[in-house]
Amino acid sequence: MNRSNPQKKTDVDLTSFNTLGVSAVANNFVDVECPKDLYELYEGGFFEHDCPFVLGGGSNILFLENPAQPILKVSIKGKDIIEDSSGRLKVKIGAGENWHEFVTWAVKNNYGSVENLALIPGTVGAAPIQNIGAYGVELDEVFDSLELFDMRDGIFKTFQKEECRFGYRDSIFKKALKRVVVVTRVTLNLTTENHQIEDSYKSLQSYLSEKRITEPSIKDIYEAVIDIRRSKLPDPNLIGNAGSFFKNPIINRKQFEELHKRYDEMPFYELNSEEIKIPAAWLIEKTGWKGKRIGDVGTYKNQALVIVNHGNATGSEIFSFSKKIQHSVFEEFGIELVPEVNIVE
Ligand SMILES: Cc1cc2nc3c(=O)[nH]c(=O)nc-3n(C[C@H](O)[C@H](O)[C@H](O)COP(=O)(O)OP(=O)(O)OC[C@H]3O[C@@H](n4cnc5c(N)ncnc54)[C@H](O)[C@@H]3O)c2cc1C
Repeated sequence: MNRSNPQKKTDVDLTSFNTLGVSAVANNFVDVECPKDLYELYEGGFFEHDCPFVLGGGSNILFLENPAQPILKVSIKGKDIIEDSSGRLKVKIGAGENWHEFVTWAVKNNYGSVENLALIPGTVGAAPIQNIGAYGVELDEVFDSLELFDMRDGIFKTFQKEECRFGYRDSIFKKALKRVVVVTRVTLNLTTENHQIEDSYKSLQSYLSEKRITEPSIKDIYEAVIDIRRSKLPDPNLIGNAGSFFKNPIINRKQFEELHKRYDEMPFYELNSEEIKIPAAWLIEKTGWKGKRIGDVGTYKNQALVIVNHGNATGSEIFSFSKKIQHSVFEEFGIELVPEVNIVE
């Protein structure tokens, strides 16, 4: 907390700062290691013209070209247990901590509730931005509050769960407060006993029954999720990708019923009486894009929803590939696929 004068750098190669492995250069780059750095930057006029782009682990972004705005990398570390009683644990985590390392720490200490979110790449600070989710659990279920720095007025603020307006891969930080705040710390509620095991997800159930695990512990779930993810998703260290490129679209019942008449095999998940979620991967696969490749850009052979960089694809090549997929899906189904990945211009 005593460091001062955060160092600004120029001409920083961003290739290793994004898991798609797209090459881009930042003319103005600053690495923030403690919240106090943000205030110093504010006092020095860093936020006066254009809010910088806030970067975590770069696992959910696509640089279209060299970013026009400054890049602010969040490396705030630390983990503090602020409450531990009656089977509940409140822990405050620095936004720059690695998410999966945090989950591993939790499981090793027998703290439950985040085990289904194992192996999601990225930082703790980015987790609330899109309300990360996997295998039947979303971050908002364990979320307590967060601390942020508002780049517009230079004030540190605390946001409680309701104020974050979490939704499916969504929050206020993707809407009204898009790109104007820096999350500095996140507080989560974990369990220390009587853990609520979430094993209803189909692939998780099959995995557990194959291993003959009838009463899974949080460690069993953690290990199962890791194994399943490794078998399905490409490792960004081996092949550039940003996970699911698009969100699963949610359509209304009328549109669903019309589509279901044409495609009775179409998988779906009813959210409520009016809204139905359709797996984007199925739509992409059905339009023939699974495993397709144009130059160095393609969809992953085992999962059509993941766009991969086979080598030296540029940001704009990946973007134009994604547009082609959106076009095909819209032509065939009348459904607009919305990118989950954040496009940085
Ligand atoms: C192989 C793979 C699998 C994935 N699987 C899943 C999955 O199962 N579920 C899921 O939900 N996601 C998944 N993702 C997406 C990604 O891991 C998450 O979105 C993650 O939270 C991004 O973290 P990051 O630190 O890399 O954020 P970045 O990519 O750096 O940034 C993402 C967005 O958050 C903003 N941001 C980052 N840090 C901060 C901060 N401290 N304050 C304010 N804004 C910030 C950025 O400006 C940007 O808009 C996957 C990605 C990959 C590559």
